[in-house]
Amino acid sequence: MVYNFNSGPSILPGEVFEEASKAILNFENSGLSILEIGHRTPLFQAVMDEAIALVKELMALDAGHEVLFLHGGASTQFFQIPMNLLNENETAAYLDCGTWGTKAIKEARLFGQVAVVGSSKDKNYTYIPKGYPIPAGAKYFHYTTNNTIEGTQIRSIPETTIPLVADMSSDILSHTLDFNRFALIYAGAQKNIGAAGVNLVIVKKDFLGTVDRKIPSMLDYRQHIEAGSMLNTPPVFAVYVCMLTLRWLKKAGGIAALEKINNEKAALMYKTLDELPVFRPTVVPEDRSLMNAVFVIDDPALEKEFLAACKEHGMVGVKGHRSVGGFRASMYNALPLSSVKALTDLMSDFANKKG
Ligand SMILES: *Cc1c(COP(=O)(O)O)cnc(C)c1O
Repeated sequence: MVYNFNSGPSILPGEVFEEASKAILNFENSGLSILEIGHRTPLFQAVMDEAIALVKELMALDAGHEVLFLHGGASTQFFQIPMNLLNENETAAYLDCGTWGTKAIKEARLFGQVAVVGSSKDKNYTYIPKGYPIPAGAKYFHYTTNNTIEGTQIRSIPETTIPLVADMSSDILSHTLDFNRFALIYAGAQKNIGAAGVNLVIVKKDFLGTVDRKIPSMLDYRQHIEAGSMLNTPPVFAVYVCMLTLRWLKKAGGIAALEKINNEKAALMYKTLDELPVFRPTVVPEDRSLMNAVFVIDDPALEKEFLAACKEHGMVGVKGHRSVGGFRASMYNALPLSSVKALTDLMSDFANKKG
């Protein structure tokens, strides 16, 4: 038995793996593998159409929002966003609350002015800055909803009239939110949506077309919208895996149903961490991520021992990010409550033996 707490690429539902493997051998009884059919065939067009329709349905998007599947990972969005949205003399506001947000800021500076409105760098990003002002003239306000590496999360939408742009790579589809409030949402698929190799981008169409610079076709959101995410060959298989995961999510009751389970998983995890002195969660209670629980063991010898115990009991992916150290348990949609139960039981046993 393996319990998969990987941070990304990460766990997907077992039935998605089953369906996806069948499609590699014989897709929709066509006698062909999904890996050898043209992307402009009706067979694949149906996949793309269903994936887009499911995103719109599950996220309750209005007609003004377009759904795109693009290449390049979330990191490409760090520069594609300012390239499409920000003129050189305009200012975009950015919140600096983790490794990924820092990278987004660096890339945005290549295209326009950046105002960093708040930062939690002073305490190694273990909290979310509050009460920061956002300049009235800002073109957009960018923030990371879930800091995958540091384990913090912003679950409610910040109060502002500035158009919102959010990196939701590691918590998209994990809890309900008024997604129509956003001018642009992006997420690398490999954490909560599907296989690596594709990005989900949701953009409010009338927010585009306000920059002077020339944009290469492959980086131009408007051209991708016009081409229905098929400006060139899309990552066919990655889109297919997303579609299967979205189908699974719908069958499971949608985002609200998963949110309930995600709340239970995180509650159990943090309750265990707070009760056992051996483990020390690094994030302040009010800003803890429901997706990625980050914690340390202060005694290096015990740390090694616990890592070995995890290995022995099939707990995969619990070693913390190299920049933070310690441990990180990622609890994405596809991770069942029973896996968190297994890990927290192991933690309790370990603490009892060592305490
Ligand atoms: C993983 C991650 C990224 C980077 O994604 P890539 O697809 O590897 O570029 C960006 N932002 C967040 C919040 C992430 O978790």
